[in-house]
Amino acid sequence: MSRVRGLHHVTAIAGNARRNLTFWREVLGLRFVKKTVNFDDPTVYHLYYGDELGRPGSVMTFFPWEHAAAGRRGAGEVARTQLAVPRGACDWWRERLATAGLETTRDHRFGEPRLALRDPEGLDLALVEAADDDREPWLGAGVPVEVAIRGLHGVTLALADPAPTASMLIDLMDFATGAEAAGVRRLEAPAGSAARFVELVATAAAPARLGAGSVHHVAFAVADRAAQDAVRARLVEGGFRVTPPIDRDYFHAVYVRGPGGVLFEVATEGPGFTVDEPAAALGSALRLPRRHAHRRAALEAALPPLD
Ligand code: ZN
Repeated sequence: MSRVRGLHHVTAIAGNARRNLTFWREVLGLRFVKKTVNFDDPTVYHLYYGDELGRPGSVMTFFPWEHAAAGRRGAGEVARTQLAVPRGACDWWRERLATAGLETTRDHRFGEPRLALRDPEGLDLALVEAADDDREPWLGAGVPVEVAIRGLHGVTLALADPAPTASMLIDLMDFATGAEAAGVRRLEAPAGSAARFVELVATAAAPARLGAGSVHHVAFAVADRAAQDAVRARLVEGGFRVTPPIDRDYFHAVYVRGPGGVLFEVATEGPGFTVDEPAAALGSALRLPRRHAHRRAALEAALPPLD
């Protein structure tokens, strides 16, 4: 029985919080769904972007560490995060991004036209024209519905040896082998989400170094805690060290390091971002987890202003 239902979110490291917000909300047009802090380091924001409700599979999140050195691309990381757009949308985005001062590159993989770009923090992205994505997009920043980002499409992992990571994802995390093209092996989550692709690329590069513009981890979605326990038990049985479930307020998370070095998370679909503010007000106020709530005044004074 398959438990993993595709991607839940991708979390990356940014430098400047305001620049990050400007790009993801004002240029890409995603909804800013949660302004909170890194639960493990509450002096740093944790910013979430997604669709109207920040549904699993639509969510990009960032830790903006103001003084983070730039990351270095290499082996053992998410080399590119893919966002789904409708067929024919890349031309519109190419102009939009050029106006924002960003260079883009057209390419084509698995029958899908793509537009590769690097966000202002150095994060490698691709807008991918997905044929069968019927998710309803958030319409922000004047982006028309015909081209608006639907959510995550997939991730590309660069690995010294893709085979052990492929085995983990297929044998323990419900992925199926999909197409293979030009040295890229594509795995696909079986059901439940349009955000379902993991592409594996072999690289001879030196190990990646985490920093601004790097993906910190990629999270896979499960329905609930019971499904999470089942996936966790399989991973433990498979010899992986997995954290106990951690309450992240908006979902429950477990973390496991893949054999290729990429940090994976398995996150529950609920309770979601409306647990501490109404849908209409998502992202409008700083939300703090219970354990840091008593520090609100000090944290608000220390965090850089966003708007
Ligand atoms: Zn996460």
